[in-house]
This record gives sequence, C-alpha cells and structure tokens, in this order.
Amino acid sequence: MRLSRFFLPVLKEVPGEAQIVSHRLMLRAGMIRQEAAGIYAWLPLGHRVLKKIEQIVREEQDRAGAVEMLMPTLQLADLWRESGRYDAYGPEMLRIVDRHERDLLYGPTNEEMITEIFRAYSRSYKDLPKLLYHIQWKFRDERRPRFGVMRGREFLMKDAYSFDLDEAAARMSYNKMFAAYLNTFQRLGLKAVPMRADTGPIGGDLSHEFIILAETGESEVFCDARLVEMGAPGLDLDFDGDLQPVVDARTALYAATDEMHDSARFEAETPAEHRVSARGIEVGHIFYFGTKYSEPMKAVVTHPDGQDRPVHMGSYGVGVSRLMGAIIEAHHDENGCIWPESVAPFGVGIINLKAGDAETDQACQDAYDALTLAGKEPLLDDTDARAGGKFATMDLIGLPYQLVIGPRGLKEGKAEVKVRATGERHELSLADAVARLAEGAFS
Ligand code: ATP
Ligand code: MG
Repeated sequence: MRLSRFFLPVLKEVPGEAQIVSHRLMLRAGMIRQEAAGIYAWLPLGHRVLKKIEQIVREEQDRAGAVEMLMPTLQLADLWRESGRYDAYGPEMLRIVDRHERDLLYGPTNEEMITEIFRAYSRSYKDLPKLLYHIQWKFRDERRPRFGVMRGREFLMKDAYSFDLDEAAARMSYNKMFAAYLNTFQRLGLKAVPMRADTGPIGGDLSHEFIILAETGESEVFCDARLVEMGAPGLDLDFDGDLQPVVDARTALYAATDEMHDSARFEAETPAEHRVSARGIEVGHIFYFGTKYSEPMKAVVTHPDGQDRPVHMGSYGVGVSRLMGAIIEAHHDENGCIWPESVAPFGVGIINLKAGDAETDQACQDAYDALTLAGKEPLLDDTDARAGGKFATMDLIGLPYQLVIGPRGLKEGKAEVKVRATGERHELSLADAVARLAEGAFS
C-alpha cells in the first residue's frame, strides 16, 4: 500500500475525551472514528488489525474442532420469549419494531438462536457432540460506553456454543475452548490468565474469564503470578486427546475476579511473593450452563436408553474488537503503538526520505515490490511530508519494522532498518536490508 493512496487521518492533538492510552492511540493513529456513543467506524488501518485478530481467533476455533457459521444480527423477540430472557434482559437490549409491528431485537448474544437452530435438526445422541461458532456484531446498550472499543455498544464478538449429552461430555467441549483460548491469546501477543468466574445457579467450576492484566482494566483481579507466565499449551496440542491436564495445571493456582474473590483462600493458597492483586481486561469468557436454554426451548435428544433429555450446553465468547484495545494497552510506548507481528496492519513501513527524487523513488519501489512478493505487506510512505513527520507517523502506527531510504544513504548503497519495539537501528546495504526483512531476520 502507498500512503499517498491510503486513508490515514492521523491526529496531532491528543483527543481530550479519551481516558486510556489505547483509545487515545486508536484515535490519533486514524484507526477508528466514533459515530455515536460506543459506536465506531473502523477506518482502514484499524480495520486491517481487526481482520487479523478475527482471523487468528477463527484459526484457533477451527483447530479446536469448532465449526464456523453466521447468524444474523437481528432476531425475533418471540425466540427470546421462549427462554424468558426478552423481559429479563433489561435496557441493554436494543428493541426494534418492523413495518409489520413485529418485535425484533439487535442480538446482544445468540444462545436462543443457536438453540433454535440445533433443535430444528438434531434428534439423537448420535448428533452429538457439536461445537458451532460465529463472529458477528453484537449490540448492547451499555449504561456507560467508554474507553473506545473496550466497552462499546456495537462490538464484534466470537461466540461459540457447545452441545453435549451430559455434563461429563460438556466438560470436554469446555476444555477444548479453554485450551483454544490460551493459544489464541498467546498468538495475539497477550498473556491471558483464566480466572474463576461466577456460575450463577448452575454452580460447579465451569466458568472462567480470560483476563489480561492492565492498569486500565475495568475488573479487579487477584491471582498467582506464576499463572501469568505459564504460557499456552501450543499449536501442536491434540484437541481430541485428554485436555484435563492442560486445564488442571492452570486452575490449580489461585485466580479470581473480585466477584469470586475470597481473600482468606487467596492468602492460604498463594505464597506472599506470588500474590498479584491488579486490574484486568476481560477478553474472553467461557461458561457451561447445562440445560438453561435447552429445557425451556425443548432442545432434546434421544439418549441410548431411548429417553429424551435436554441437551447440555456451554457458550464461549471472545471480545474481538475489545482485543484491539487490550493489545495496544499491552504493547505501546510514548510514541505510539507497537504491534505484535501477528496482528500488525502492515509488516514493514518503508520511508522515502525524498519523494520526487528519481533514484530514491526507484529504490523505494524496488524494495516495495520485493517485500510485497515476500508477503510482508509493506506500507510505503511516498508522500512529500517532512522526514520528522514521517518518522513520527510510522512510530505512531507502530509497524514492527521501518525501512528508511534516502538519497544520502543510497550514495553509499545503504539504508536503515529500525526495529519499532526496541528502537534498534541497523545500517546495511539496501539489498541486504530488503533480503533480511523478507526472511524475517530481525524478529
Ligand atoms: P463485561 O463483564 O465486560 O460487561 P460480559 O460478561 O457482559 O462482559 P460476555 O457476555 O461474557 O461479556 O461476552 C463475551 C466477551 O465479549 C467478553 O469477554 C468481552 O471480551 C466482550 N464484550 C462484552 N461486552 C463488550 C462491550 N460492551 N464492548 C466490547 N466487548 C465486549
Ligand atoms: Mg463475562
């Protein structure tokens, strides 16, 4: 992409309304624009990152054996009357009436709809287990939309739903999502800690929130520091094997959000030097809820003994758009974003220090072509802005690498590579710089 063609409305001023760094940087770097409270347009730079996050979430769902589909954003109120949630949900639900006076709503979540779809086609224990997901916009009329995309009203969520014969089988689906989430967040450059969450009237231990520790987080959390560094099981994990040890290793140590916190237990179970009490961002939530929807909605399957019983379900959410804020909170400095390579909007920024100078333009073009061919998705700053402004913009948008090409360097056949995360600079021949960027030698 050439910057002259792209749409990158960077702001010089720090927007006054933004209270946290990720919100400030997303506005300043021209990634999002607020269209109404908690409702954002995703400008091209932000959109590229959103798509990359979404794709990683998708790949890890697929790897775990979940099956993608797409449900609509608008739902019939009657469906929610079946579960009893139409009246129970309250003012967070956006209710809509169509021209036929039929009550609709903009989906805040999809348990009812997926249950309706499942019951329409599934009859027998032989149809189980099933794990279905979609990545779709949700609307919740939050009382206090804030912190940019962290707590929006319209936001993108991955929500998966599992269908199993009984609780023991449901635990296996739960464990798959538990492990898939660890891998997902690791690939996004985040250290997520699974923390015990409220299970409500269902009881049991099958509800976890995945939390990124951050000062700007909305939740108050308590955990064992060793959990933060534990890492993910890895992409070679056998999802058809026994995942209980993966889960056990991460649930043996104390971790709870404030609703579930028990300070006596925390102190008894966690040596003082490992105790972390901090703030965190909830990026995912997995939850087994048994027959809460299948019973009232009559989603039953025939068991091997010939009896019909309601199917056991769980739901598994990831805040795809919230993740962008969480990643910036974890990866930035005073000059801007520092994207992990996995989600960077472009892989390399090429800075032309003298646009209009034939030799420099040609060198930039050659580097651009080679890096494009190598799949590095370069962004070429071919504008006539001052060098200082170009450096500042590149730092602000936070591409992992910058390749700086100017007439003075070219005279000696040289260019400079800057690694955004460390600030390290390498002066080398232009050919070498391009070759090494192409092969990922600076990572
Ligand atoms: P919260 O406690 O933050 O309000 P929740 O418990 O209502 O979230 P879930 O229903 O579990 O959220 O939704 C799954 C995921 O969707 C959450 O873990 C979070 O990452 C994301 N999410 C929820 N609400 C919002 C929102 N208003 N804006 C952006 N992301 C959200
Ligand atoms: Mg939650």
